[in-house]
Amino acid sequence: MNIDPTHLNAQQLGELGADAVDHLARRACGTLTSYRLLLGRCLLAMDRYRYHFDHGCCTSIHYATLVLGLKAKQARQFRHVATRLEELPALSNQATHGLIAWCKLREVVRVASPDTEEFWIDLCRHKTYEQIERLVALTAPGQLPALPTSHLAQPIHTELRIQLSPQAMIVVDRGLQAPSQQAGRMLNRAEAVEMLFAQLLAGHPLDEDLQHEQRERALAKARSEAQKDLEECPVRDTRFNPEARHITPAQTRELQRRDGYRCSTPGCPHHLYLQTHHIHYYSHGGKTVPLNLLTLCSACHRNVHEGRLKIEGTPGNLVFSNEQGRNLQQKWRLDVADWLDVWIGWTGEEFDCYRGRLAA
Ligand SMILES: [Zn+2]
Repeated sequence: MNIDPTHLNAQQLGELGADAVDHLARRACGTLTSYRLLLGRCLLAMDRYRYHFDHGCCTSIHYATLVLGLKAKQARQFRHVATRLEELPALSNQATHGLIAWCKLREVVRVASPDTEEFWIDLCRHKTYEQIERLVALTAPGQLPALPTSHLAQPIHTELRIQLSPQAMIVVDRGLQAPSQQAGRMLNRAEAVEMLFAQLLAGHPLDEDLQHEQRERALAKARSEAQKDLEECPVRDTRFNPEARHITPAQTRELQRRDGYRCSTPGCPHHLYLQTHHIHYYSHGGKTVPLNLLTLCSACHRNVHEGRLKIEGTPGNLVFSNEQGRNLQQKWRLDVADWLDVWIGWTGEEFDCYRGRLAA
């Protein structure tokens, strides 16, 4: 009898015995690696052949977030590993056959070279993920792991993950502007967090109740303003000149605030190189007013003007479609999600299953 193990539940798997469960777990782990690599190669091919344009997307990463429901960070990681493996035949062979765990692979591709890849493959067989991660952090690209020396040793960074409500995220994004203005350049979130805590410790001893109350009040006020923003997203500066070709920097900032400081195309992960687009083209008589203006990244903006992405409607009620007129927002299809769940087996802890995420 032919049994598809992906259809078995935990009890049925348990009844197969210890050896079978071990075998299946190893096979599933290998499958994770080979299918993530396949996905990374698909994204790479998509970028090279520009197939993402067929979906109204500006890059393969935009496609991955919009159509596949991936997070941009995951998609970039898959594409990065696929790119690095093009120069690493032995590691590529191991990964294709699912003989190396993904977490180790994504670490070693950062430092392995054609001369050192066999050494890293051997290390991956005998070392745990934590050991590999540590060794990679201490090794320069193309080199073999050495004992920590002053020029090789890099501090181990801690990754902070926090979940924020939409209101809190607006407060944070807005709060980032002040330290950036102080520093005279755009601070990243890590730098801003460090600066804010340093200022807090320097100027505001934490045990003073009065200051605590003031901070609570300020936070409550910022949150309620953020909530208002979320509800209506108004544009505060109304002194737009409908006939002007260009808008002022203050008006640009105001539009970007309304649009959440990121590209407005569904699924597009870009928040840099933002431009302002006339939904009804200025050259066709479109007015320079907030209802006709939209924040887009430079790549999506180019897609619009080259006919690969169509945008109609007004902010808050926009329809995005690709060249064939298919609505971009309706592209998360459940049949694709099912296929990925079963064949890629992404139902483990690390990422949510596709079907579940789409149903949510
Ligand atoms: Zn975009």
